[in-house]
Amino acid sequence: MTTYNIAIDGPAGAGKSTIAKKAAAKLGFIYVDTGAMYRAMALYCLREGIDRNDESAVEAACERMTVSLRYQGGAQQVWLNGEDVSGLIRTEEVGAMTSAISVYAPVRQKLLKLQRQLAAKENVIMDGRDIGTCVLPGAQTKIYLTANSHVRALRRFKELKEKGQMCNLEEIEQDIIERDHRDMNRDIAPLKQAEDAVFLDSSDMTIDQVVDAILMTAKERGLEENR
Ligand code: C5P
Repeated sequence: MTTYNIAIDGPAGAGKSTIAKKAAAKLGFIYVDTGAMYRAMALYCLREGIDRNDESAVEAACERMTVSLRYQGGAQQVWLNGEDVSGLIRTEEVGAMTSAISVYAPVRQKLLKLQRQLAAKENVIMDGRDIGTCVLPGAQTKIYLTANSHVRALRRFKELKEKGQMCNLEEIEQDIIERDHRDMNRDIAPLKQAEDAVFLDSSDMTIDQVVDAILMTAKERGLEENR
């Protein structure tokens, strides 16, 4: 059976994971958060004290890492060398390291195969930066989801506050702008809208409006109901 794949790409804090999770639950699809996989690799580098600018040290670290995904009650867990690190990867420090090391080919190569295997086996909604353009160029539905940087910073600020983490709105916005710049301008698999992706700006949309827009696009692009 051919699987149905939905790719969602966009900058940090655009709401991709919240929306993808909700849409996946409605469709009975598996949600694959590829950012979590890159974050697990960055956590490893931070723990090892690896310099983010030292490409050969990062490449050597890739050889020592095993990243995998597991699902419990529909929720994705990311495992690093036999440890569930899902609760440790959501900090700004890990986010900044992630965007620094994900410019390197060995880092991207390591995750690409795993991501494609998942999408070939299951109906997935996969979010990230290069899903529609590079990981799943044949995805039936592609969405480019964005929002203005202030709205995105505010969302991230609230999220971190709710988790009890210390944070500063201006620093978060600055970090988001830097991260987007690096993700959009790197040589390999930069963040950009795929030609056949639908553009959605969620700045003034509710979560449900965005989810509905995605489901409608998927229906228009051949997703039958009750598949
Ligand atoms: O989506 P999230 O904020 O968790 O992603 C963290 C970082 O991981 C991004 O800023 C980006 O540098 C990297 N990433 C990537 N390709 C993906 C997903 C994430 O380069 N498919």
